[in-house]
This record gives sequence, structure tokens and C-alpha cells, in this order.
Amino acid sequence: MLSKRILQLKPSATLSLDAKVKQLQEAGMSIINLTVGEPDFETPAPIKKAGIKAIKEGFTHYTPAAGIKELRQAIAEKFLKENKIFYQPSEIIIGIGAKQMLYSVFQVLCQKGDEVLIPIPTWSTYVEQVKLAGAKPVFIPLKPPFKLTAGDLEKHILEKTKVILINTPSNPTGAIIEKTELEKIANLAVKKNIFIISDEVYEKMVYGKKHYSIAAFDENIKRLTITINSFSKTYAMTGWRIGYAAGPKKVIDAMAVLSSQVTSGTSSISQKAAVAAIGLHQTYIKNMIKEFKKRRDFIYSAFSKIKGISLTEPEGAFYAFLDIKELLSKTYLSSNDWVEVLFEKTKVAAVPGEAFYAPGYVRLSYAVSFKEIKEAVKRIKEFVK
Ligand code: PLP
Repeated sequence: MLSKRILQLKPSATLSLDAKVKQLQEAGMSIINLTVGEPDFETPAPIKKAGIKAIKEGFTHYTPAAGIKELRQAIAEKFLKENKIFYQPSEIIIGIGAKQMLYSVFQVLCQKGDEVLIPIPTWSTYVEQVKLAGAKPVFIPLKPPFKLTAGDLEKHILEKTKVILINTPSNPTGAIIEKTELEKIANLAVKKNIFIISDEVYEKMVYGKKHYSIAAFDENIKRLTITINSFSKTYAMTGWRIGYAAGPKKVIDAMAVLSSQVTSGTSSISQKAAVAAIGLHQTYIKNMIKEFKKRRDFIYSAFSKIKGISLTEPEGAFYAFLDIKELLSKTYLSSNDWVEVLFEKTKVAAVPGEAFYAPGYVRLSYAVSFKEIKEAVKRIKEFVK
């Protein structure tokens, strides 16, 4: 009855795990949920206020499918100021989170016969979306510390390679691609005429390192790059569903046509709230990073001391990616099993590496309170013993 395309589609492991945990929590079970990919902070008050104002003023109708001018202009200014990329508002499209923008860009660029290079471990959404577009995902396996280099990509480039997907800082590893390697990747893409989709949703969550946007290097790479970003993580706005893409006008226009037939654009109210988010005082961002860094330092130091577990220091995002292979050989067959028993015995919920094409690993989110992180570390320590 259902189409082959849909029958082959894998559900988002992180979203379904998170939903399962939330259901158990609602039923009264006390769980430490480290599966979540969203900040535990409240959406800042000025953003909420702008949303309420939009409702009160009746700004509650369809907007242009590519988003309101005011927000596209504000994002263009943000790109210039923070990422050193000059985009016209017409080179920017707003959508239902970065996720829809990624779906849209794969639909617009890829078809049967094309290959997309995806560094592994990866967020599984890319893989499913590439397949939905009829193209073939080609995995680029990375070893700890999971930092992509141009050399890793070069040997996989063929005539059919259409896109290279980069995600820096990375979900799930927290790794940041070094600037020198980003430059080499840019040169490679230009030389071979391959598009880059650069997912930068964790750009603000960097601890002691600087974030670089590949499209900023020069005009040649800019004309091949689609930069993806979101309000979800930076402004704790996951539920507002605002993401955006910026790139060559031809690609953005095609994405707008797709939106016009599939979504009619995203929420008018959320778009007004997003304008307020861009205008938010920088102290909000500074405080958020300070808090995440404190948690990152604690979690890295605590797990580094647990025998059988190893990890590289996450440079960005809000995930710790634990190598538990040593523990598997002794007791459990897979990280899937390990995570399941961990949950049964300790009520700490985590995501197994299988969800990121990385068996033998476990992803813990530290976008939860410091108190919960401390308690989770204590329980995992006991469990491993
Ligand atoms: N890109 C990465 C790497 C993510 O981890 C996520 C969310 O988990 C997204 C994109 C999607 O974010 P949004 O809420 O904007 O759809």
C-alpha cells in the first residue's frame, strides 16, 4: 500500500527516543534524559514578547513562501557581521527549521545518479534526505577526533559526486573542522565543481575555538555553497520551527518554488519572533556558551577518568560522544544493548552510536541541567563498575 520511498525511510532515532522518554516521564517515571538535541533554556522573553505582539496585531496570515522581507534582511545583516559573507536578502530563504531547509536543498540539487559525500559519524537525517531525493549517500569514515580533512574526501570524489555535506561543529561528535582544512575543502570543491552544503546550526556553541563559514573564503566557493542555519539551538527556539538557507539565487529560488507547493512557508508569528531573536543582546549568547562550557568541561573530565570509556574533548555543539567499545567486548554485544541496559538499571537515557552510523559509541547530550549531568555521571560510573 505505501510507497517504496516511504517504506525505506528510517524514523529519526533521536526524536523517537526522546518522545519515548517524555512519555515515560509524563507517566511519572523519574528519568535523566540525555537524548535531547535541544537547549534546556527558556526561549528568551523578548522573543516570546515579539511572538505575542505578532498575534495581537493580527500578523497571523500567510507570508511569502521564502519568508518575510524583514527577517531575510536581518539574516543578511547577521551573515555580513558575524560570518563575513555578503548575501542579498533574495539569496536567503526561511523555512520550517534547518531540517526542512536541508530536505529542500537536497531535493533541489540532487537526483538519481548523483552521489553525496557524508562524513561518518553523522546525524542520520542527512542520509535519509539524500535517499529521499533519489541520490546515493557515500560515507566518509572518520576516526577520533573526527575532524574532517580534504584528504578524507578526495579519494571518494567521482564524476557523479554532486555535493559534499559538512557539519561544523558536528552532531554527534562536537568536532570542528580546522580552518586550514576548510580552505582545502573549498579549493577541492571549486576544482571539481562540487556543491557544499554547510550545516552550521551549532556555530555559536564553540568552546575556545572560532567558527568559520566556508562560504566566506571567496566568491568561487560562495557560488557553490548553501549555508544552512537555524534559530532552534542558538535561541532555544526548537518549537518555533525557524531555519534558513543562503546560497546562489538560482538554488534559493528553486527552494522557494518547492516551499510554495509543499509548505506555503513557515509560521508568520515565529518569523516575527525570529527578527527579535537576531536583535537580542549578545550577553544572552555569552551566558549560554559559558553554561555549556562549564557542563562540557565537567563531563569531559568525568568520563576521561572512567575505565573502559574514552572520548575526545568536544570542541562545540552540546554532545559528548563516548567510545564504549572496550566495555562491549566484555559484557554487551552492541552499543544498542549497552544503552538499553543502562536505561533499565539507572534510568539514564542516551542515544546509541548506531543512530549515527557509529556502532560502539554512545551520544550524551549536555543540554540538561548541571545537577542532572552530575547525577547521570554518578550513575553511569556505578553502572560501568
Ligand atoms: N542540523 C543538525 C546538525 C542538527 O543536530 C539539528 C537538530 O538536531 C538540525 C540541523 C535541525 O534543526 P532545526 O530544529 O532547525 O530543524
